[in-house]
Amino acid sequence: MSELTELYDQVRVCEKCQLSQSRTLAVPGEGPEDARILFIGEAPGFHEDRQGRPFVGAAGQYLNELLAKIGLRREEVYIANVIKCRPPGNRDPLPDEIATCRPYLDRQIELIRPRLVVTLGRFSMERYFPGASISRIHGQPKRVGSIIYYPMFHPAAALHQPRWKTLLDEDFARIPGLLEQLEQIEEEEEQPRPPQAEQLSLF
Ligand code: SF4
Repeated sequence: MSELTELYDQVRVCEKCQLSQSRTLAVPGEGPEDARILFIGEAPGFHEDRQGRPFVGAAGQYLNELLAKIGLRREEVYIANVIKCRPPGNRDPLPDEIATCRPYLDRQIELIRPRLVVTLGRFSMERYFPGASISRIHGQPKRVGSIIYYPMFHPAAALHQPRWKTLLDEDFARIPGLLEQLEQIEEEEEQPRPPQAEQLSLF
């Protein structure tokens, strides 16, 4: 059993926060254990809570379509959420719930070691762009060391806001270019490394 599988088992029986009382199934996340691309959403919704899988409702269908448009299959990417259990009525996750659940996502990221981290919505954006406004920074990648962080609107929000949907479509279309950028980064890594990790905006 891999460490990631063990983590899933811990999540499924977790009772560390109040969401364990109202959930049907916890949703640990899914995808290849060595995925190059990680998508981080917000929290499970109604269908995810029933099935124990991330992004299986209308937003998930839309995410699948967006992936297909850029030539990616869902099975090629890892999909997780900031919190692993559904908040009642799909309310926003509370700060203490996010903080309590955070070690699970931290460990997932440590184990998967993705090179492109796409944040979907403001709650996952907050991990890497604290205090930022998603309407201002969506579509603006940030490189930290050898990882690119890329903030976007959440597909569920975009489904309800035609203007955001257009922006999400545009931001998604830039992912192939970022993957090319990653290949350059990997080539750089084969060269002697600078003494300190660099932090810069790519665009
Ligand atoms: S949301 Fe996270 S911390 Fe809370 S019960 Fe679910 S897995 Fe545990």
